[in-house]
Amino acid sequence: MAYDFDLFVIGAGSGGVRAANRSAMAGAKVAIAEESRVGGTCVVRGCVPKKLMMYASQYADHFHEAKGYGWTVGETSFDWPVLRDTIQTELERLTGLYKKGLEGNDVTRFDARAVIKDAHTVHLVGENRDVSVDKILIATGGRPTRDHTADPDGLGITSDDVFHLPELPKSMIIAGGGYIAIEFAHIFQRMGTEVTLVYRGERLLKTFDRDISERVERDLVASGVRYINNTVFAAIREEGGKKAVELMNGEVLHADQVLWAIGRHPHTEGLGANLAGVELDRHGAVIVNEHHQTNIENIFAVGDVTNRVNLTPVAIREGMAFAYTQFRDEPRTMSYDHIPMAVFSQPPVATCGPSEAQCLEAGHEIDVYEADFRPMKAVLAGTEERMFMKLIVERETDKVLACHMVGADGPEMIQIVAVALKAGLTKAQFDETCAIHPTAAEELVTLSSKRAGRA
Ligand code: FAD
Repeated sequence: MAYDFDLFVIGAGSGGVRAANRSAMAGAKVAIAEESRVGGTCVVRGCVPKKLMMYASQYADHFHEAKGYGWTVGETSFDWPVLRDTIQTELERLTGLYKKGLEGNDVTRFDARAVIKDAHTVHLVGENRDVSVDKILIATGGRPTRDHTADPDGLGITSDDVFHLPELPKSMIIAGGGYIAIEFAHIFQRMGTEVTLVYRGERLLKTFDRDISERVERDLVASGVRYINNTVFAAIREEGGKKAVELMNGEVLHADQVLWAIGRHPHTEGLGANLAGVELDRHGAVIVNEHHQTNIENIFAVGDVTNRVNLTPVAIREGMAFAYTQFRDEPRTMSYDHIPMAVFSQPPVATCGPSEAQCLEAGHEIDVYEADFRPMKAVLAGTEERMFMKLIVERETDKVLACHMVGADGPEMIQIVAVALKAGLTKAQFDETCAIHPTAAEELVTLSSKRAGRA
């Protein structure tokens, strides 16, 4: 049977766009549907606007630190609408580039919500039109989660909303202990908002190495953020023009804005996956095999909607592996080992490989090499900022299993360290590598302070 399209991609985010482009480049007739803005979470309401906001917030520290370097900085002020609007202009530019890329590869774009009707039919909502398709790729991403019990009236905002706030809140209460909660806590605190972070657990970034979590908490509190752990929101209500948050521990907090940053869930509501018989897990994630194939032979999924590793470069690589496997006859799988990660706290976290606890649980006998020092820039700047680095080494083989860092430029360094870890390099090979002086990165090839791994 001749179908309208060889491939129909639902969702023009990181994974969907890459898969559509690469499949079309391989000769497939491809269509893509996007119900919001092309570029998806990363470009429109995630990585990119967040990082731009982070840069903006860093100026608070730069102005303060400049004095030690001989600069006199006059009175400063921050204009939120200017930043907000400039960011949106930049996002429009990026969205335009994504659209151009799709057009250049002859991918048909539908600015519409797509719903699966059956395994070979996609319905375009609004256009009231069905298209027949050979293969379907679900790339619908994820959505921020709210606690509807504590906030039945939707008084709290989510990360989708922070980029459009009409004014900079004077105060904000953030719920969550993951990277999005921590990043926005630092950003808003530095832009002048008084931030309180409420986390239900004991330890922020709980899946990260404990040494990292502890430093992140210390830096957050040192930034002026009020941190309350081991409790959650019981209820939110309007009170005297503010939002009142009642905590389970009985305390009542007041703020201009309340931000839910308690996680994200796969975006499969109303998608029609069930109509085609596609299996979802209990969180609504599409279940796929190593070739991103669902239980229905011609339906595939990549990216956050599969809830594996929810990061942009992962969605992109999955999309690429899908296209090469299905349309270039060059089967590829995605390797989930040694995925480097960053948290843009201030200073940022950079990590690659398992935590010390995970190494021990996996039965490795390990040595840990670490350094904790005041970076050169901090001395004249007069700040107490520190840099922490840690290499976890398997004792028997000398192989470097993991690297964890908190400190300026860590995310730039970890990308290259990940190459070394992926290549299975040893601590001796790190040490044989000549340093670059004066940098913080040189510590990575001169680490000598060693201790045994500890639970
Ligand atoms: P998405 O990019 O979410 O794209 C899915 C698209 O599908 C969306 O555009 C959506 O509108 C569309 N869609 C959904 N349903 C339909 C439908 N039925 N019909 C048509 N269209 C539909 N990752 C990093 O690597 N680094 C970071 O620093 C980072 N920071 C982040 C900060 C924030 C605040 C957030 C929220 C996320 C961040 N992420 C970061 C995660 C990253 O954005 C995601 O992992 C990535 O965007 C996932 O890509 P995706 O293609 O799976 O889905």
